[in-house]
Amino acid sequence: MTEIVKTEAFVIKVRKYGESSKIVCLYSEKFGKINAIAKGARKPKSKFANCLDLFSLVSLIIYKKTTTHLHLISDCDLIKPYYRIAENLKKYEIALKTIELIYSAVHDEEENQQLFNLLKKTMQNYEVVSNNVNNLYFHFLIKFGEIFGYAYNFQKCAKCNKVVIDQEISTQKIVYDFSRGGPLCSKCESIVFQPRVVDLGILKILNKFETAVDGLEIINIKLNAVDTFEIEKFLFDYLRFHISGIKELKTQKIFKKIKD
Ligand SMILES: [Zn+2]
Repeated sequence: MTEIVKTEAFVIKVRKYGESSKIVCLYSEKFGKINAIAKGARKPKSKFANCLDLFSLVSLIIYKKTTTHLHLISDCDLIKPYYRIAENLKKYEIALKTIELIYSAVHDEEENQQLFNLLKKTMQNYEVVSNNVNNLYFHFLIKFGEIFGYAYNFQKCAKCNKVVIDQEISTQKIVYDFSRGGPLCSKCESIVFQPRVVDLGILKILNKFETAVDGLEIINIKLNAVDTFEIEKFLFDYLRFHISGIKELKTQKIFKKIKD
């Protein structure tokens, strides 16, 4: 059976198919992650020209079949191309990481309005911001964990609820328990088998990120290179710990080679 459906979607993966077509992976509002073919999309005069590029937000008419996971795009309107993301290497890197994470972590055809809204807001913020763009990505990672039921807690001991974040010395090491999703106070820290240790200063920054509703609220927090590296690794390792399917991002490897 085939139904004709309309949805907004982000293009999160594009590949050539045959002489002139494209197969795209979309993160759509109504169906979550969905794969579709756009026949003839690479011909210069195609109705899909300039429409199905990476990061673009589009409105689609799809012939959606119940018997296959590859559907047919019959029409496409470009809502927003996000040119400024593609033109800036740093923004391009984090936007690629964002969509690669969604691609690897999310199952096909499971609608998730919260995740679609988060992606839309995050891409919009990537587009308009010029400095500290990493903060937006970290905010995205934290909210992504929350949507999937793995909220981060950066304030209170995950076992006894004692506040740990109010201590003074920011270089103090705090044990974080990934399985409980929170730090442990000095009395409780021995319960964790493989402790993950993090500086109190980092925990305080992460707490500001977690309590911000929108990434733009924390855009002025300036992080040095060491803290940026630590925070990204910490947030990503936590998601990998909880969500199967997430692997080391290819984008991470490619950009590491570029920088080295
Ligand atoms: Zn405790």
